[in-house]
Amino acid sequence: MYKIRVNIIKTVVVFLTFFTVLGTSYAQNLKWQKMPLLVCLPPNPNSATMKEAFTSWQKASKDKVSFKFLTANSCPDAQITVSYTANKTNSNTTFSYRNGYLRKAHIEIGFLTKDGQKAQKEVLQPIMMHEIGHAIGLISHTNTPKSVMQPTVKAGYYITEDSIREVNNLYK
Ligand SMILES: [Zn+2]
Repeated sequence: MYKIRVNIIKTVVVFLTFFTVLGTSYAQNLKWQKMPLLVCLPPNPNSATMKEAFTSWQKASKDKVSFKFLTANSCPDAQITVSYTANKTNSNTTFSYRNGYLRKAHIEIGFLTKDGQKAQKEVLQPIMMHEIGHAIGLISHTNTPKSVMQPTVKAGYYITEDSIREVNNLYK
């Protein structure tokens, strides 16, 4: 099992509303090898909100995770890429890894709320923070009140202490 894991690049999909068992079992092992991470933001009005969401993680982690931003429709060298889908309810993060290190992550942000409305910034930002949490290696969800790493997030949710501890453990 271990051999298979280190020799094949696998892709794990983590959804906002639920996540795979596979994701859980690798929770301890996945992290980026070095910082800063190169992030590709598409030219889009929502990228400003996305950039703020990335910056929240950088600040919360006191630069244990850090990002460099590129703005382009495609950036082949970027480690984290982002796309926005207007008519989708769920957001998700897909990533590939090898030898316990994350190689590439893609975050797709869906803009529809469950009742079919376009999500406003107050809701979108915690959703973005949630997906970025997955992209930096926090695979599991938490039950901590108001944590952006809860399975479902709402306006006003933020990066809680337990997530910061997890980041500190990953990137010490
Ligand atoms: Zn999630």
